[in-house]
Amino acid sequence: MQRPIGILGGTFDPIHYGHLRLAEEMLELAGLQQIRFIPTGTPPHRDAPQVTAAQRSEMVSLAIDGHPAFVVDEREVKRERKCYTVDTLRELRAELGEQQPLCLLMGGDAFLQLHSWHEWEELFGLAHIVVGYRPGYTIEERIESAPDALREQYRQRLCASDTLRKRPHGGIAVLGIPKLEISATVIRSRLAENRSIRYLLPQAVAKYIHQHNLYASC
Ligand code: ATP
Repeated sequence: MQRPIGILGGTFDPIHYGHLRLAEEMLELAGLQQIRFIPTGTPPHRDAPQVTAAQRSEMVSLAIDGHPAFVVDEREVKRERKCYTVDTLRELRAELGEQQPLCLLMGGDAFLQLHSWHEWEELFGLAHIVVGYRPGYTIEERIESAPDALREQYRQRLCASDTLRKRPHGGIAVLGIPKLEISATVIRSRLAENRSIRYLLPQAVAKYIHQHNLYASC
């Protein structure tokens, strides 16, 4: 079986080192052949982002430029209608074939909200879910207070990372990945206050933000 392809969706508003380290660690730990960064178009779960989808996507391209295994996939940005992860995964599955292992990558915070995603239980028939969580901890404690349906799926599907390449979809793997205390929200508010964003995101992205005067008036 082929090595899995990772999919990292996000608003990337803007992309930062938290996203990039999550991707880099998952690439190694899950033995992925590639990670596709998929910026959302109009996100179903949040207010409209402050910069255009094309600009968010451009910043992802700048951030991953030169990485041999990272690619940007603009399908959601180019779609006119609202798009859901489940639809994107259906498209990818149709393009890549039934046997290709696919891993939907996310941070622990995103996983604990999975039950609020559109048709979330369908995701397991399309991809594995790979969750980055603090090393040395398990997600066990927090899953206890999650809704029953999410806890059940977690308990039934939890698997080791080497299972990810043995099956095309259906597992949940938790990988110990240090979380950098960086968020796009913090970057946006620093920019609004005219404070430094240096070392929170790649220099090329910071330059793009300054050149286009993004996030200045949020
Ligand atoms: P915002 O602050 O605007 O909510 P964000 O920085 O959390 O944005 P998203 O685009 O919403 O970024 O996140 C995309 C994915 O990246 C999610 O799965 C999220 O869990 C993960 N992620 C975001 N920041 C980090 C971080 N610092 N470390 C690890 N994972 C992260």
